[in-house]
Amino acid sequence: MNPIARLQYLWRRKEEKENKISLMFYVCLYLIVIVDFIFGYIFYYESKVMLVVNTACLLCNLFIYHLYEQNKRSLGLYLLLTQLYIFMIIATIVMGWDYGFQQYLYGILCIFFLPFYIPDNSKNKSLHIILAGLLFIVTYYILSYICHYTRYSSGLINPTFSVYTIHALNSSISMAAVSAFCILSSMINNEDKRKLKRKADFDELTTLYNRYGLNELLTELMGDKKSFYIAIADLDHFKNVNDTYGHNAGDEVLQTLANKLLELNKHLIKVGRWGGEEFLIVGDPKVNGKNFKRHLDEIREEISRIKFKAGKKKINITVSIGVAKFNHKKGIEDNVNAADNNLYKAKETGRNKVVG
Ligand code: GH3
Ligand code: MG
Ligand code: MG
Repeated sequence: MNPIARLQYLWRRKEEKENKISLMFYVCLYLIVIVDFIFGYIFYYESKVMLVVNTACLLCNLFIYHLYEQNKRSLGLYLLLTQLYIFMIIATIVMGWDYGFQQYLYGILCIFFLPFYIPDNSKNKSLHIILAGLLFIVTYYILSYICHYTRYSSGLINPTFSVYTIHALNSSISMAAVSAFCILSSMINNEDKRKLKRKADFDELTTLYNRYGLNELLTELMGDKKSFYIAIADLDHFKNVNDTYGHNAGDEVLQTLANKLLELNKHLIKVGRWGGEEFLIVGDPKVNGKNFKRHLDEIREEISRIKFKAGKKKINITVSIGVAKFNHKKGIEDNVNAADNNLYKAKETGRNKVVG
């Protein structure tokens, strides 16, 4: 794949973490190759030794591109780091400290310590890093100018314009590398966190909220202090389904039911799996008790009409539902227990009904 097509390909699939990292790597590699050409031009006038070293680095970078295309990514990355490190040492010794090649160390160190230096993320971390990087570069330019070209600072050296230019260019490249890797690290962290949160909040079998997710949802609603209703729905005689058709058929029934619950009155209720074959339904604060119970009764009736697949058979299943108004003075467990008491009454008085 040609270099531009490779970038386009990765950009279209950048949602995946691996592609995001590859995209960043290719962009960095292309920029490094461009910088190689710029330095090639500069070294042609400044130092023939460095012209040879720079050309070797350019060839090495093309080889790294080839390695990456072959999927030898770790090897490519290590070779890139080693090459930058050696280039930095030779350039600093050959050209002298004032040219600023030693600053590449920042960028190289950042890559090495990538997983460690951003423990937490705020939403706008990338923006902060870009702004901080820009501020650093601008400050660096201004200070450098003041120190070397005005009478406000005596300075230790009296550089030529090319020394100043190369030094400033090196500073920019180093800071851009630091910013780029901070952004990458932040993006990776955010993605990992999102995945963990999904795993923690949602039930694997039904993809509904699990008990932990429901607790978070209720805690959030409790913070709003608005009145709302909750309900517990429990499948009737579900044990019979498992005993007659097997546990897998039972699981399938739970999945179908969960999908149905998600479909019905989506904008008015939130639903999660409280445990086993019990589902907690949380009403929107906009919905009053009368309407909430009416919605629940519609849901109950709709469910009773579904032909659930149980192995090779189609079966009917009903649910009993207990409702309670959420009492902000009590805790979540107590409120769920109140709904549970009504569920018990529904079961006692014949099942397939809403009580509360
Ligand atoms: P009732 O009408 O009184 O609610 O009767 P029931 O048989 O539904 O009640 P019970 O609470 O005695 O049984 C619940 C059953 O749900 C027992 C358990 O095997 C089954 N169950 C709980 N979680 C799962 C699950 O994840 N998958 C399957 N297949 N069955 C489950
Ligand atoms: Mg039960
Ligand atoms: Mg049951």
